[in-house]
Amino acid sequence: MLDYVPMSNDYPYAEKYGVNRALPEHGRDRGEVLDELRAMAKAEDATWESGRISGTMYCGDHEHYAFLNEAFGLYAHVNALQRDICPSQTRFEGEVIAMALDLFHSEAVDESTPVGLVTSGGTGSICHAVLAYRDHAAATRGTTRPNVIKPETAHPAFDKACHLFGVELRRAPVDPATTLVDLEWVSEHIDDQTVAVVGSACNYGYGTVDPIAELGEIAQARGIGLHVDGCLGGFILPFGQELGYDIPLFDFRVPGVTSISADTHKYGYAFKGSSTVLFRDKALRNAQYFFLTDWSGGKYCSPGMDGSRSGGLLAATWASLVSLGREGYRRYAEQIFATSSAMQEAVLTHPELRLLGKPTFLFSFTSDAFDVYHVNDFMRKRGWRFNGQQYPNALHMAVTRPQTQPGVVEGFAADLADAVAYAREQEAAGLSPHSGAIYGGVAGGMTDEADEFIKMVMADMMDRQQSVPPA
Ligand SMILES: *Cc1c(COP(=O)(O)O)cnc(C)c1O
Repeated sequence: MLDYVPMSNDYPYAEKYGVNRALPEHGRDRGEVLDELRAMAKAEDATWESGRISGTMYCGDHEHYAFLNEAFGLYAHVNALQRDICPSQTRFEGEVIAMALDLFHSEAVDESTPVGLVTSGGTGSICHAVLAYRDHAAATRGTTRPNVIKPETAHPAFDKACHLFGVELRRAPVDPATTLVDLEWVSEHIDDQTVAVVGSACNYGYGTVDPIAELGEIAQARGIGLHVDGCLGGFILPFGQELGYDIPLFDFRVPGVTSISADTHKYGYAFKGSSTVLFRDKALRNAQYFFLTDWSGGKYCSPGMDGSRSGGLLAATWASLVSLGREGYRRYAEQIFATSSAMQEAVLTHPELRLLGKPTFLFSFTSDAFDVYHVNDFMRKRGWRFNGQQYPNALHMAVTRPQTQPGVVEGFAADLADAVAYAREQEAAGLSPHSGAIYGGVAGGMTDEADEFIKMVMADMMDRQQSVPPA
């Protein structure tokens, strides 16, 4: 078993503010509560405002956030489940879906009616898609032991969805040089219980786009679905295409594509807690609807897995899309792609480093000369936070708007040069790096015996307040 020593900076507030172990008997002054919230937010925002943190803060623009907060505040108390009270939510949700469908060229579909859902995040969108494929295939083809095939590089949300819904997940290998899925393996592993295959546009690890057109041909020939995971790339790659970057088609213009997930809470620059999932055919989405018509509490139906939903999030998501428009998204994409290209060039100036596959706005690099986590160790000290990967060890940088600020690329290039020199020295001295791979970047020191360790880290994160000794 591995030792896990909690890092004190993971939970710095117990000493500063005390710990609420029970509902306070007397309410606190609102101004005081807000001051406390402001102080924590300000300190935490300072960590990413430098532009040195990969992904996570896609917009990073406090004016945009203030605008979204105003939109959110007008509807935050509204339950989007009760549409008779709030027809506004029907407008927001319908238009968010329509705008996303348009972005993914639903006009190319003439054999069916494209529709969508707004969900609570990328995982939610993927779960709804897997559920839709499972139930649609059961109803139309009588599948009883459904399976889904994903490239190994596709997001763990597919594993989670399959785990939750009793669907077998088959992981297709990828070509180590291109990071793209092995099409032959996919073809060979489709059987009469396969309900869908998956391709990413782009994947989280490498920022590369799977051969969607080829996957579409396979899916069509075998009469199964193809889900394109555009959770990360959905709201930026279409603009990269318009700007002339070499990005293959991945949307509804590809005949076999039957659903697409695209996160408004990433490059849609909306608040966390919103995403879209689009279906080529209304019948597919409708297959996952849930009804309970004989409940004593009344007839119950909900369009997705959530019950009550925040009207604020729908309003803010809608506000983000319509306030930026195509022109706004294109402008941000232009800055992000240019920044990513410049950072990739900085990586390529070092013969010890190489990029994995053909990346886009997100790139990942490794080293054959030393363990690239030495680079990570050094860059961390300079305030950089990359996402660590394994098989092979690699570091990934998802370029977002905070990196497009003046000076960030130059800082990256200078620090990387020092980091490479440091890594060479460490390797020559036979030393091992301190950091390791974990999605979300919680802690280092991962090995294959990681299950216990991971559980410990998660439990510690959730239980920290209770485990702090009373003051
Ligand atoms: C973020 C992401 C997801 C999952 O989205 P969440 O919003 O974190 O639930 C799925 N696929 C890809 C490629 C992603 O980057």
